[in-house]
Amino acid sequence: MFFSAAVFAQIDTSIVFLGDIDSTIATDVRYATKNNFTGQILYPTDKVYIRKIVGESLKSAQSYLIKNYNLSIKVFDAYRPLSVQKKMWEIFPNPNYVADPSKGSRHNRGAAVDVTLIDSNGNEIDMGTEYDNFTEKAHSDYPNLPEKIKNDRKILRDTMIKFGFEPIESEWWHFDYNGWNKFSILDIEIN
Ligand SMILES: [Zn+2]
Repeated sequence: MFFSAAVFAQIDTSIVFLGDIDSTIATDVRYATKNNFTGQILYPTDKVYIRKIVGESLKSAQSYLIKNYNLSIKVFDAYRPLSVQKKMWEIFPNPNYVADPSKGSRHNRGAAVDVTLIDSNGNEIDMGTEYDNFTEKAHSDYPNLPEKIKNDRKILRDTMIKFGFEPIESEWWHFDYNGWNKFSILDIEIN
């Protein structure tokens, strides 16, 4: 485990607006538009909210990417209210793609992020699939991809790991924050 209980008790776990931590991190909250796998608007705002400590780690990852690769982060999703998880589940009750709200998603804990890389002009780097592509091609280690794409996925993955996140196998864009299970599931209103 990443945090001992004593350390965890001292960190700032409040949910905050990501732009207040790092306004250079781009965002594209698809769930605030109809351009997402449900085809429905699920969020009342396109502002990204996140646990403070998770946002600070993302800020460190952002600085590192700019400095070493001239790339930066774009966030699709971070904290997701439990009420939104319930709505997603109603629309698409498939546990392979949507976390069952009775268990909650790591996003409901404010301890997961969906991210990609952008270049210095703000253009998304080709990662082989779109965000929320539910095919094998979106698996982090999918082998049949051009070398450049595999390498760009590796840059994202290695950077996120370096700053306290862990990847999952099925989605190249999703990263859990280490110790995510210590953060409780929250249903706070975002606007
Ligand atoms: Zn995710």
